[in-house]
Amino acid sequence: SPVCVLVVGMAGSGKTTLMAALQRSLGLPVDASEGMKKDEQAESSESKPIGYCLNLDPATRLLPFGASIDIRDTVDYKEVMKQHHLGPNGAIMTSLNLFSTKFDQVLSILENRSYKEEEKALDYILVDTPGQIEAFTWSASGSIITSALASSFPTVLAFVVDTPRCTASLNTFMSNMLYACSMFYRTRLPLVVVFNKCDVSSGEICEEWMTDYEKFQEAMDDFVSSDGSGYYASLTRSLSLVLDEFYQTLHRVSVSAATGDGIPLFWDVVQKAADDFEEDYVGDMKCRV
Ligand code: GDP
Ligand code: MG
Repeated sequence: SPVCVLVVGMAGSGKTTLMAALQRSLGLPVDASEGMKKDEQAESSESKPIGYCLNLDPATRLLPFGASIDIRDTVDYKEVMKQHHLGPNGAIMTSLNLFSTKFDQVLSILENRSYKEEEKALDYILVDTPGQIEAFTWSASGSIITSALASSFPTVLAFVVDTPRCTASLNTFMSNMLYACSMFYRTRLPLVVVFNKCDVSSGEICEEWMTDYEKFQEAMDDFVSSDGSGYYASLTRSLSLVLDEFYQTLHRVSVSAATGDGIPLFWDVVQKAADDFEEDYVGDMKCRV
């Protein structure tokens, strides 16, 4: 059965760009490549794993990847805003709610495409989520969609991180890790931290902070002396102990969605996370989103 990859992360971390990079590295399903010339199609999908892309961001204008299922085909975000007198965030939430009521139809399409006894069955289902992370991760509809996918397919979270920003600020790094941590404990799904934008700055420093407690403490000391906010520093220090345990269960990989660097490694790591899913979740539905 295909592996479902839910792409989540803070606004601007590069989720949508990553979707495009992932799609470029995969073959397209037959229906998505209909518009292509025959020889192009043969070239693009020959012996490559087949990926099916879903867009769940109602507010996106231009998609840099081809979505087989697009929330924008079902709900008109601008209309939702007008009709319900909502601001941008409220309209995103409402659009997601409307879409989640039809998610059983999406699931049956996906299941149809996955269990066919033919060579073009899907290998991956890739899901892009709204720019603002909380619209998906802290909403009822996000939970419904996540648990629906996880009960049908081995599902993993790809938590995309803006590496240059995390490297520049320990504060941003900690916010990201805490968010990832809370998602992991909420969904119980295997999680891959994707250090994106490694063309700008490598994820090395962040990796070091995660594996070497001393290094983290050093960075912390520098941060405290430059920032001077004692309360926040001691909070972060205590939280780092909690995070240390969380780091043990994490998968991580550095990529550049822009250049395509590290994408082959990404697939290896996703496979490992999917193996975790099979081990931990099959026969024991721990997913309680
Ligand atoms: P999203 O809100 O998480 O979907 O983020 P986007 O995919 O829209 O990307 C936000 C910004 O980051 C855009 O300006 C992208 O061009 C840029 N971006 C995304 N991935 C990379 C990357 O790997 N390297 C660099 N340099 N920029 C990137
Ligand atoms: Mg996006």
